[in-house]
Amino acid sequence: MEKDITKSDEAKSHDELPERKNFIREVIDNDLKANKYEGRVQTRFPPEPNGYLHIGHAKSICLNFGLARDYKGKCNLRFDDTNPTKEEMEYVESIQEDVRWLGFEWDKLLYASDYFEQLFEYAVQLIKKGKAYVCDLNADKIREYRGTLTEPGKDSPYRNRSVEENLDLFMRMRNGEFPDGSRTLRAKIDMASPNLNMRDPVMYRILHATHHRTGDAWCIYPMYDWAHGQSDSIERITHSVCTLEFTDHRPLYDWFVEELGVYHPQQIEFARLNLTYTVMSKRKLLQLVEDGNVKGWDDPRMPTISGLRRRGYSPESIRLFADRIGVSRAESTVDVALLEDCLRDYLNKHASRVMAVLRPLKLVIENYPDGGVEELEAVNNPEDASMGTRKVPFSKVLYIEKEDFRETPPKKYFRLSPGVEVRLRYAYIIKCTGVVKDEKTDEVIEVRCTYDPETRSGLPQSSRKVKGTLHWVSAAHAVNVNVNLYDRLFNVENPGGDNWKDSINPNSLEVLKDCKAEPTLATAKPQDRFQFERMGYFCVDNDSREGSLVFNRTVTLRDTWAKIEKS
Ligand code: ATP
Ligand code: MG
Repeated sequence: MEKDITKSDEAKSHDELPERKNFIREVIDNDLKANKYEGRVQTRFPPEPNGYLHIGHAKSICLNFGLARDYKGKCNLRFDDTNPTKEEMEYVESIQEDVRWLGFEWDKLLYASDYFEQLFEYAVQLIKKGKAYVCDLNADKIREYRGTLTEPGKDSPYRNRSVEENLDLFMRMRNGEFPDGSRTLRAKIDMASPNLNMRDPVMYRILHATHHRTGDAWCIYPMYDWAHGQSDSIERITHSVCTLEFTDHRPLYDWFVEELGVYHPQQIEFARLNLTYTVMSKRKLLQLVEDGNVKGWDDPRMPTISGLRRRGYSPESIRLFADRIGVSRAESTVDVALLEDCLRDYLNKHASRVMAVLRPLKLVIENYPDGGVEELEAVNNPEDASMGTRKVPFSKVLYIEKEDFRETPPKKYFRLSPGVEVRLRYAYIIKCTGVVKDEKTDEVIEVRCTYDPETRSGLPQSSRKVKGTLHWVSAAHAVNVNVNLYDRLFNVENPGGDNWKDSINPNSLEVLKDCKAEPTLATAKPQDRFQFERMGYFCVDNDSREGSLVFNRTVTLRDTWAKIEKS
């Protein structure tokens, strides 16, 4: 069953970014001028449904769908589903959801498996032309015969089978007469080619496996290189955009369509996205999920689209990121801080400010009337007056952050300490008069203070200035919430190599229970985003329910990590 997923309203509601030139657009502009492809632009995004999409795929999605949008062309979503043992419907569905959430709509939803019969017929054509043969070498032998970058390969002993024999064997491969791995169909090109991809590449392998769409109809499956270009050709793709590792495959891509004499799309390669502190292959991400290093594909620490969504990313922030990094042919690694900055840009404009205390310390205002409550006016977003104001209750007993009080303050500590004055946000100037300590642990469990009723925010200001302003929550009105604080999933900038799992950060998640939030948050819904003043941006977790709210910290207000690293 396919889920009914509609493009998120949020994704639709914001203006598109201005077009930005890149080398792919230059190629297209020239093709349009030369009237190649009758002036059409047709792209596709071709994921293999063997995992959830990640931020690297988002780059490719923004590129392919963005080209179609800007050139008034079309972009298909095509599942490259030629690997039945690794592919699942769960992935097919999540990929559609993620593309739509990012704000894109495909022209056609297609599957390489839609073309299995056509691809088989194409293969028969190549056999008849003497351009493909059935080979009985096993995988190890094929590799051995292939040669190396410095040595030519050797011809397979089966290379010169007659067309009739090849046709018969290929049909019997299809009919299931042979075991897995016993034979392949190979293109007959050139075992001495300097390009290893041209040394009689495998087109079909035997695999008795159930496919998530075609079931048991097939026991031979096309290889990527054979399926991909021909699928592009069938769909009359004009510009087949892919990542640089396929540059060496382009001669083969071109060879197949030329030999078949079919429509010929243009493959164009660009540099894939790499991000610091991040692993980006689906294989590794799957391993993190399977080994329990994270709680699932949509764990907010994952670089998957679903993880970023759960973390509080907006589609706009990801599109802005794709725009800022641009598209080129130069391999590079982008600082993950750039992604976070795009997110802050968005959240600064769109997130409501609220007050919440993550590590509460009780503050009692000795001269404030018992039982008194004031509703103080607070601004929802200083960046956007249209977001209005709200009322926040103030009373005698409040919570402040533990880290906002020090009994013996270090130098330049502008927060609260005995004898010192600070302002409470939207409220009054207070002065600390003393503390109450736990008799056993000597820990400060309560801060005492007095307030000056003349200093209420919004009243004509006295000349008195204080250095610190603290956020707070009224104890009697506070909503208890749990908060997940996230840090990078990896400790090193480039978690590569065989031992990549050794650099997993063991402290990437900190769970805070019974944090105190202002009462407006009581009705917050999953995915709602806020700025907790001074503490960062947060969103309501998907598993959150009214009465037991869980917030994920999406990102800190500034990049504290960069500062720590520099110091
Ligand atoms: P992975 O190695 O993560 O599994 P993949 O390339 O095998 O990635 P596909 O599902 O085959 O994943 O990719 C679909 C499309 O997304 C391809 O066109 C691919 O080039 C592109 N893509 C994948 N990873 C990146 C990346 N890091 N940056 C840009 N594009 C990417
Ligand atoms: Mg792949």
